[in-house]
Amino acid sequence: MANSKYEYVKSFEEEDEVMLPNLIVVRIEGRDFRRFSDDHKFERPNDEKALDLMNSCAAAVLEEYPDIVFSYGFMDEYSFVLKKKSKFYKRRASKILSVVVSLFTSVYVTKWKDYFPQMELTLAPSFQSRIITCASMEVVQAYLVWRQNNCHVQNQYNTCLWMLIKSGKNEREAEEVLKGTGKQEKNELLFKQFGINYKKLPPMFRQGSCVLRRVKRLKTEVEYIVVHSGNIASRSFWSGHSFLMKELGGFEEDINKVKPEYLKSFVFERKLMPSTWIVVRIDGRHFHGFSEVHEFEKPNDEQALNLMNSCAVAVIEEFEDVVFSYGVSDEFSFVLKKDSQFHERHASGIVSVIVSFFSSKYVMNWKDFFPQKELKKPPSFDGRAVCYPSTEILRDYLAWRQVDCHINNQYNTCFWMLVKSGKSKSEAQDYLKGTRAQEKNELLAQQFGIDYQTLPVMFRQGSSVFWDKEDPTERYSDERDGKCRKKVVVEHCNIIEQSFWKAHPSILDEKH
Ligand code: ATP
Ligand code: ATP
Ligand code: MG
Ligand code: MG
Repeated sequence: MANSKYEYVKSFEEEDEVMLPNLIVVRIEGRDFRRFSDDHKFERPNDEKALDLMNSCAAAVLEEYPDIVFSYGFMDEYSFVLKKKSKFYKRRASKILSVVVSLFTSVYVTKWKDYFPQMELTLAPSFQSRIITCASMEVVQAYLVWRQNNCHVQNQYNTCLWMLIKSGKNEREAEEVLKGTGKQEKNELLFKQFGINYKKLPPMFRQGSCVLRRVKRLKTEVEYIVVHSGNIASRSFWSGHSFLMKELGGFEEDINKVKPEYLKSFVFERKLMPSTWIVVRIDGRHFHGFSEVHEFEKPNDEQALNLMNSCAVAVIEEFEDVVFSYGVSDEFSFVLKKDSQFHERHASGIVSVIVSFFSSKYVMNWKDFFPQKELKKPPSFDGRAVCYPSTEILRDYLAWRQVDCHINNQYNTCFWMLVKSGKSKSEAQDYLKGTRAQEKNELLAQQFGIDYQTLPVMFRQGSSVFWDKEDPTERYSDERDGKCRKKVVVEHCNIIEQSFWKAHPSILDEKH
């Protein structure tokens, strides 16, 4: 659909396709999981239920995205390897890393009660994710060796640390004892002081877990299995799973050291241009189907929009660099202040934590908006980050989204009125083909007695969510310290015109 003079803003979006023959690995890691695991009383050093939950989330990700053929995880991280010539989301890095972390997170929240029936979720869990581009299977192998080494090193350290803490030391003292100790010394400490033979600890703790897809005997069904192995990047492990050989290929030789230049590529992340407005736009994945499964009212389900808005409020409260957001349908745009140093301006960090946190909240808040409806499938969102160099262009971006809201809403209102009046979906589509705004308004008025302008303003103008600190008379004082408190508000207003920005000068004030 042709869409106004604002469409030029699309040209600021960057291409981030991972070119062939590179292989794509996605890694997710818990965000602030030390706090999350403290608050939810995880057992130390390893909470088996928490690890089982991670594994079942990984299985759900493999089930939903057939392009992922291998996964490996430990503690609060998981890595996913895509098949060699995958065309998943046409290999766009940002889309891939966001839909993986989003689904993982919403499954984590959905399944939480199955693993922790006694423990209510008090914090919204979230994860960050990134793409690791591997030029060959040799690089994938090095990556897996590196992650499994990390699992081993961290687990050995944590086992010592928590044994010392449980025996009466405080955390700082325990850290002091372990400073500078090697692997051998740690094993000796465990054995001599605590009678623990490290090698006898559960394989899941020492080696991490792989989730693999396996075709069942009948060959009509697949299942997802969790396996543990001392060396997931060895030729022997790999050749025991023929589909890994088929989808990824094998390794030439076994390795146990990772080349430092490879390590550098594993930690590399693209930075967004400094001193530019960053917009993170997230959009529901397959929400057409999601809205049907959950019987959203058409064309606009008010509660579904309110749920989206509640998640945006939570994002604004959680991430202080987000100064404004605008949402419509299954999408939300979050504007980060120009000089934001959030995640050191790493695109993947910024996009992934916002999309993950939003997904987490969406599942957690569902029952508040749909008390009678069960959440039948976990929602997921894709995300991208785009930089806009001036306030003028940023405002054109927001205007573009609001014009889009208007065009889509007008079309959808006509479409669903026609369908509800007895036309088939394709008849309604043909009927509306080529009609202009004016004609659509006339159709609504004449055939259905609807004055478009009187439809709910949230449907027509979308939702703007931001910190309100404009009207001093409306401010309320915090009784404890007498300071003025700001609050996040949801408004439905015209953000194309100057007047909104004049009335709220602090939102895009560059001196934030
Ligand atoms: P960041 O946001 O920088 O990643 P973080 O708080 O997530 O910070 P990490 O270094 O990633 O810090 O550590 C994750 C912490 O989560 C571990 O130190 C551990 O305390 C806890 N944790 C995660 N999974 C488990 C588990 N299965 N059992 C026990 N503790 C866990
Ligand atoms: P993609 O994965 O490419 O984003 P999608 O199915 O999510 O595919 P969109 O173009 O994002 O396609 O459109 C979102 C769809 O979700 C709309 O067409 C609409 O059917 C549905 N939808 C989203 N929010 C609502 C709502 N509040 N009320 C009714 N329907 C909604
Ligand atoms: Mg969508
Ligand atoms: Mg959409």
